[in-house]
Amino acid sequence: MAYDDFYERLRAYEGRAAALGGQGKDPVNEPMIRHWCEAMGDAHPGYPEVAPPTMLQVWTMGGLSGHGARPAAYDELLALLDGAGFTSVVATDCEQEYLRPLRPGDRITFDAVIESVSPRKTTKLGAGHFVTTRMAVRAAGELAGTHRFRILKYAPARTAEAGPATAGPAAPRRPRPVVNRDNAGFWDGVADHRLLIQRCTGCGTLRFPWLPGCTACGAPCWDTVAASGRGTVFSYVVMHHPPFPAFDPPYAVGLVELAEGVRMISGIVGVPCEEVRIGMAVELEFRCVEEGLELPVFRGTA
Ligand code: ZN
Repeated sequence: MAYDDFYERLRAYEGRAAALGGQGKDPVNEPMIRHWCEAMGDAHPGYPEVAPPTMLQVWTMGGLSGHGARPAAYDELLALLDGAGFTSVVATDCEQEYLRPLRPGDRITFDAVIESVSPRKTTKLGAGHFVTTRMAVRAAGELAGTHRFRILKYAPARTAEAGPATAGPAAPRRPRPVVNRDNAGFWDGVADHRLLIQRCTGCGTLRFPWLPGCTACGAPCWDTVAASGRGTVFSYVVMHHPPFPAFDPPYAVGLVELAEGVRMISGIVGVPCEEVRIGMAVELEFRCVEEGLELPVFRGTA
């Protein structure tokens, strides 16, 4: 099919419903707000009498059993993209607008529309189309906020960034960290086998990941402290699906709380995935995961 015809078929889905007559499974409630605030480390005193605005989408989630509010159009659009070879998907970004605070007891209803399908774009992941949906979230029939969510459906670029020439098909490579002037010092530390945490020289607050300004006082001046390497698993996931090129599931990804108090996301190694536990002691090590790519990981010491 010619590209223009194909894109016209995609665009015919713009304006069609992606969710219709959706109802929140639970009313806005204090336990979910409290769990969210604990997970996010948000101690604002206004919660849980009012829900954090960024929880907007949470109240619309259908869980494992779904919410039964999904008309066929969205799945048809994805199937059309699959059929044209754009079989991979990645969520790229979301935007939210807040019009009315949500409070415990509010009952949520929602609808979503396919807002736009982009022309074909070439990205580092591969060529594909961005699909944007816009959800209207209501409480007692009144618009409380909108949630705009964008995915890229793409055809994975398999060999464009292949590693050194070897016999047979080139192996996929791990994604490379994006090094910029705000975080270059961190990666310099990794090269020296030191895990460096930024410390505000104004107020002494430690911060991680690296940022240009202090999260506590806003000061731009900083130095670093080297992490001792001891930590505990604050939370974790075991990745099974979806598969990513160059990763070999299952593998554990942890949110590690360092002894210094900051948290970092990293691989948990040295113990079987099913034995990783919250609270498990871990020890920093530097692992060459691929030629030219050395990363800090944490070894379980259970
Ligand atoms: Zn500070």
